[in-house]
Amino acid sequence: MTEPIIEAANVSKSFGSGPARVQALKDASLTLNGGELTVLMGPSGSGKTTFLSILGCMLAPTGGTVRVCGTSTSGARPAELAEIRRHHIGFVFQSYHLFSTLTVIENVLLALDLRGDRGPKALAKTKEILASVGLTSKMSSFPGQLSGGEQQRVAIARAVVADPSAILADEPTAALDSVNGHATMTILSAIAKERGRAVLVVTHDPRLFEFANRIVHIEDGSLMREEFTVPKVNLMRSSGVERTRKDALLEYDSQK
Ligand code: ADP
Ligand code: MG
Repeated sequence: MTEPIIEAANVSKSFGSGPARVQALKDASLTLNGGELTVLMGPSGSGKTTFLSILGCMLAPTGGTVRVCGTSTSGARPAELAEIRRHHIGFVFQSYHLFSTLTVIENVLLALDLRGDRGPKALAKTKEILASVGLTSKMSSFPGQLSGGEQQRVAIARAVVADPSAILADEPTAALDSVNGHATMTILSAIAKERGRAVLVVTHDPRLFEFANRIVHIEDGSLMREEFTVPKVNLMRSSGVERTRKDALLEYDSQK
């Protein structure tokens, strides 16, 4: 069996102290494996972002342990956590978090630059990943000149260009219409399936279930139920994922 990419065991997190103390996460255990898209589903305030931040080593848990690619993060210094994030984890957020004064290609190149990856190889990798999300013609545009769906595809390209083992996405479709939401999820599923990466998508939208290998429900800081499913969106429908992704993008373009 291959090693899990992220393993959280009995993780808890509280904020504040005394009467203002909030127990955001209680005894949560979850393993993320390569090749799987996991949907973490729960209402607003249920602890989704807190859990994603802990799994992604952006936030330290109050209790429990997190291992990333076999390395325990307990007691790690901030610089060590930053190193783990840089090597193993890509983040995608609801609000894209792009730099408005940089072009599309510069936004993606930046992710490689931060890792010391520069020069013609970095440029080629960036162009390739932008092509794979259908943005070749937008490489010189600024984020403000793009639609929400296009901006989210830039954010995904930036999260995956360095080929991290895990991609953690916090409500990546919440600001998008259903066509763009579908295109975004199709790309994320392909990253899980085609590249064998662990993808976690946090949402309160049940429409994303059709893309999931596994659905984990969270309520009031506790993981409740776990369902294993077969993605209903058949990524192997045509000759491969690339084609399906293209289909989604074509559908997207035709509806613009
Ligand atoms: P979700 O992403 O599911 O909407 P969150 O993980 O953001 O939920 O929040 C879970 C609970 O923890 C909420 O009650 C929220 O108010 C609280 N919380 C989250 N972050 C902080 C923080 N930095 N300080 C205090 N309370 C927080
Ligand atoms: Mg949240």
